[in-house]
Order: sequence, then structure tokens, then C-alpha cells
Amino acid sequence: MSRYIATRAIRGAHSVVNEAEALLKKALAEKGPETPAAFPNTAYHLPLILGMTGREVDTIGDLVPIIEQARGLLHPVPRDRRWTPYLGETLDAGMATLLAEEAIEAVRFVYGEEPQPFSGVNLQRDSFTSPDMATNGHDGHLNGPIDDIQLRSWGIQLVDGRMPGFAAIVGCAKSNEVAVKIVRELQRRNILTFLSGNCNGRSIIHQLQEEGVEMGYDTYIVPFGTDTISAIYALGFAVRSALTFGGLKGGQTREILLYNKNRVYAFVLALGEVDDLKYATAAGAINFGFPVIADTVIPEILPTGVTTYEHVVSMPFNAIEGANDMERAEKLVQKAIEVRGVKVRIAEVPVPVPYGSAFEGERVRKADMRLEFGGKYSRAFEYLYMTDLGAVDDGKVTIIGPDFEEIPVGGAMDLGIVVEVAGRKMQKDFEPVLERQIHYFINAASGLQHVGQRDIAWIRLSKTAVEKGFRLEHLGKILHARLHADFGAIVDKVQVKIYTDKTKIEKWLDTARQAYDERNRRLADLTDEAVTDFYSCTLCQSFAPNHVCLVTPERLGLCGAYNWLDCKASYQINPTGPNQPIVKGRLLNDDKGYWTGTNEFVQTASHQLVQEVAIYSIMENPMTACGCFECIAMVIPEANGIMVVSREDPSMTPAGMTFSTLAGLAGGGLQTPGIMGVGKFYLLSPKFIKSDGGFKRVVWMSSFLKESMADELRAVAAREGDPDLIDKIADERIATDVEALVAFLTEKEHPALSMPALF
Ligand code: SF4
Ligand code: ZN
Repeated sequence: MSRYIATRAIRGAHSVVNEAEALLKKALAEKGPETPAAFPNTAYHLPLILGMTGREVDTIGDLVPIIEQARGLLHPVPRDRRWTPYLGETLDAGMATLLAEEAIEAVRFVYGEEPQPFSGVNLQRDSFTSPDMATNGHDGHLNGPIDDIQLRSWGIQLVDGRMPGFAAIVGCAKSNEVAVKIVRELQRRNILTFLSGNCNGRSIIHQLQEEGVEMGYDTYIVPFGTDTISAIYALGFAVRSALTFGGLKGGQTREILLYNKNRVYAFVLALGEVDDLKYATAAGAINFGFPVIADTVIPEILPTGVTTYEHVVSMPFNAIEGANDMERAEKLVQKAIEVRGVKVRIAEVPVPVPYGSAFEGERVRKADMRLEFGGKYSRAFEYLYMTDLGAVDDGKVTIIGPDFEEIPVGGAMDLGIVVEVAGRKMQKDFEPVLERQIHYFINAASGLQHVGQRDIAWIRLSKTAVEKGFRLEHLGKILHARLHADFGAIVDKVQVKIYTDKTKIEKWLDTARQAYDERNRRLADLTDEAVTDFYSCTLCQSFAPNHVCLVTPERLGLCGAYNWLDCKASYQINPTGPNQPIVKGRLLNDDKGYWTGTNEFVQTASHQLVQEVAIYSIMENPMTACGCFECIAMVIPEANGIMVVSREDPSMTPAGMTFSTLAGLAGGGLQTPGIMGVGKFYLLSPKFIKSDGGFKRVVWMSSFLKESMADELRAVAAREGDPDLIDKIADERIATDVEALVAFLTEKEHPALSMPALF
């Protein structure tokens, strides 16, 4: 570490620890040590402090030893030029800084308004609070930690490589245009971007807002605040990844830092002048193995071009070779990715709009809409089927019918997308698997929004996209490019026909509906008994090293993203990948769901941590969970049944815990009888906790599930021989504690009350 950086980092650390101490003293005097001090929407207390010290901070008083510990990490500031601190002293200063910064944020929350869910706005804080900025996809501001739910829902993208890493940008870019270019370059690569800090009062957050860039969870751009201290949330996020997905515990400092160094591809981009506090915070990030790339001259680091010097890279913006600032911005991002070794995987998709998973969640509002296909005023369907190699002209996109030129702005138009694929390894079973991807492929184009599937597809196209030249043929180009890129192992040729002609749409819709029906019937016939192989999914092992999902025709992966057919297709595509066939072997117990093959597989794949899994039980050897589960099922002993909480439900449950808190118990790759993470469609399966009594055990479930799967649940109730069953199940509107729950169940004569005791 250069003497210069060390000196400034240590100096910065001293002053931020002093500031934290002063603030804490004031809070102790004014509010008292018992006053709660916590971040909203997370079960990880103050996550960085929890991870690095093992201490669970809940009150202001709990912060006292933290500041002491931070002070203990401070070494003297070098006073003359011959004095170069050891690397360890700088890293210590960095750690002290992070502890102090998180403590400061916690105290700021104490002084602010009560943090509301999804809107941790605190007016006391020197941070961005413009009222018209929807920053987090939940229509609130984001000025606090990322909530646990969001963290987990990114989990799967982080583990399957769709989100290759994260960038913490601190400061302010050379110009608004450069700011936009930088985040677009990151978005294009699906890199999650955290924003904080400023230079002379101006922050990249202001720059992006002025340029109308949509910020929020859905677009992978998360603004934390316009001061440097709010960068602490990025590092808190890193700690929480290790706790959530790595199965690590608070206080396993070394392991958490190593986990990040080895598995989390993150870097810091310091834009503009770097002051002491930024040096100190950067030293904190370096503890995690995250390099810092600055676009300014850092003394003692050769200022020309690109120079790496122990985790710090100085790349003065104006000295970057390039025809203009846009090229320089691109190179800056490129360099950062290179330095950290982020593995970026993107398909080249020939469309005139930005394209990447970062745009998947982007919405097209009515006012910005050029036109829509499907929805209320028109209809759209999509249908993918396999045919002979000779019948497919690869890459051909045909439009059958008029273009949308004639449709008034804001209007609607019928649309049919028919995709014909051929390939030597293609199977009929894979048709629905590929068809389902259309949603993601189209959504990844900026300015397009895709909802639904099959004959309830709904696509919106923005004015901006059309101005940039987006036409119907590009829908076909996207599908061609992505099917080749993502499914090249099974698909050799792809051609797309896009219908806008009314009569032709009628005809094709008929054909498509017959195919949908046939697929439904095939799926219904696909039972656990009917197959010889199940599949594993170990995709999440990059984050939860001992977790394995056992995926059967009647039980999908707990994240909901992988069913048995998906796994089968994935195995074809990547025979050495995370989805391996598991030969069931000898049936050991039909009721609980034990086979020799599944047990053997789990032992190996969990590195001997798990010996047996009862695929159909929550009470005995339940399947482990990584953290990506759509729902959590948990036993409520007093009700002799189980509750099912969905990720979307922030409310209190009869177990006395919210989803976030429960998730901490259910995840981590451990078997915990009585609690289990599940995919929501597993609830509908005849095999759902079959050995514990099946669906009739459900006594409480989030209203979100009741509503989003109303028809399916009604069918389940009928199958279980109790058509009114769903009305007998409580939800958060009816009961949030055990007393109210039991009273409701008794009144409704819920079947669980008269079932055999669970224990
Ligand atoms: Fe992770 Fe299981 Fe989903 Fe695979 S199926 S991605 S292991 S949660
Ligand atoms: Zn997972």
C-alpha cells in the first residue's frame, strides 16, 4: 500500500471514528442506551457489524463496544515522509472505518422518522430524498439497507451468473453523459450497481436523476445516499451475501472476507476527487478483496493510463485513450471488470436498444407507451414448437400482416409470435421450457415490457424504443439470438414468424391452444412414480456450498425457477452442469419419499452434511434450503398444522416472525425439522408434505398466495375432498398470532384440528 494512501486512509479512519463516538455520546445522552437502533427490513441487525464482530446490535447502548473495537483498530497517523505504515495497518483503518460508518448510519436512523418498510427515508440524513423519485421498485425511496427479500430474490441471479457481480460507485462522474454511460455499461453486463457519495456536493445520483435514468431494484441501479458513509450499505450487502448464501455466522470474520474475495465479484469505482474518508472507506472495501478503481490521479501510483498497485488502480479519466468521453467511460468500466476478474456472459443481440437482464424488470408506463400487444384491448400469444431441421431457415424472421405504423400512439394491436426450432438434440419435452424463456428474452430489451405467457402474453413497446428504430422484426431477432446463445446445445436452427394478420392469428391461436392443452395433459401424467430419474440442482452451491435441491416431477426447486423438465433440458445443454440425473434406485419409503439413489446423491452433494432427505416431509429430514425459496412452510404446533409465508408478504405471521426473520432460520443449507423453503407450485402438488398429511395441514397462508393462485388452490381443495378448504385457511388479514389463528380454525372447523398430532 502506498504511503500516501495509507496515510490518508488512517487519517480518514481517525476522524470517522471520532465522529461516530461523538454522535453516539449525544445519542446516549439524549435518547438513552435502551433506545432501539436497527436497520429496517433486515434480520441481520447491523449486518457489517454482525459479520465482522459477531455482535448483534439492537440498541444504542450496544454500539458502545463497537466503537471501542473500532478505536482499537486505529494506528497512529504517519507524520513524516519516511514513515510508511504496514498494509495491515491500513486494512485495520479500513475496518475501523466501516464499523464506525455503520454505527453512524444506525444512529441516524434513531434520529430520523420511523423507517417505513421500503421507504427508509430519513430527513436528518445528508442523503437523497427527492419526493418524486421512485428508487426501489416498491414505490418508495431507498436510503437504507437493501431489504432481505430483495437480497434473496437476487440470490438466484447471483448464483447462476446472470448477475456477475456488483459495482459500488462513489462520487460524481465527469459529466451527466459519462454517468449515464457508466451505468449503462454496467447494466448491459447485468452488474448490480450501488451508488453513493458526492464530489463537492454533487453526486452521481443527481446526475442520473437529471438524465431520467430509472433507478431501483428492478433496473439493478440502487442509490444509497449522496454521502460517502452510505457506501457502507454496499459492504453490508456483501456481508449479508456470505451470511445468507454461504451459511456463515456473524463473527466468522475471516471466512466472510474470504467468501467475498473468492465468490463475490465486486469492485469500487471512485469517481472524482478522493478525500480522506473515501480513502478510508476504500481501505475497508479492500479487506473484502474488492479493488478500487479511481478516475483521478492517485499520488504515488503512476498516473499514466492504467496502473495497478495493490488493489488500487488509478485511471485518470482525461488520460484514458479514446475518441471521446463515451469511449473513455466504456474503457473505465472495462478496466474495472478486468481488474476484479468479473466473469461477464452476454449474448450479442442485434437490436437498436440497450439489451441485458438489467432491463428485465423495467416497466413501460402507459404515458411512455407507443403501443401494446395483448392486455385489455388486444390479444397476443406466443408459441414455440419443434420441427424438422430441413423446415427451418435459421435466422429468418417473417412478418405476416401489417406493421404497427397505422396504430395510433397508445393504441393496441393483435400479435402472434410463432417460433420454430430444430436441432438434433431437441425434444418435444423441451418446447415449454424454451417457450417460457420468451418472457425473459423480450423483457431484457430496454423499452419493452413482457408479461404473461402462452395466449395471455402482453407486450408493451415504448416510444423511445420505437424512436431508436425498434420494429416487429426485432422481436424475432431477439429470440433467434438468445435461443442460440442460451440453448445452443439443443437448438441448431431458429426461425420466427410474427403474425399481425387477424385471420392468420385466429388459425395459429387454435393450433397453439391445442398444443398448450396437450402439454398440460402431459405434465399431469408426469408423476414421481412415472419416471426413473429425478434431477439435482446444485446451482446455489456457489453461494450455499452444501445445499442441493432434489427436483422431481411433482416437486420443483424451491426457487420456483427449475422444474423437472427444466432440469432435464439443462442437463442436455450442459451434461456436467448443476442439474444431474439422479437414478431413484430402490424405494425405501413411499410415504416419506426415501430412495437409495436420492439419499446417496444428497450425501455426496452435501459433502456428508446431510444423510437422508424425506422428499415428502417437513417433519423428518426435510430438504435443505439455500435462501432463494419462494415460500417458507413452518409448523405451528398449537394449530397442529403448517403455515406458508410467501416472499411477497412483509406482514407478521402466527409464528411471531416475518418472512425475513424466518428466512434466516430456513436457509443456510441445514436441515431443520418443522421449517422448510419451498417453491410455491409445490403447494399444489399431490406430493406436498404427503407424509405429514398433505395440503390439509395448511392452516395459514399469505393472502398473496391465495390470490395469485386462486384457481389452482380451488382445484387442490376439490382434490383433497374439501372444496371449501381455502376459506378455512387463515391469512395475515385474519390472524397474526396463534390465539387468533386457533380461534379462526376452530370456528371454521379446519380439518387439521382433527388430524393426527404432528408431534
Ligand atoms: Fe438454487 Fe434450488 Fe433453484 Fe437450483 S432449484 S437454483 S439449487 S434454489
Ligand atoms: Zn438458491
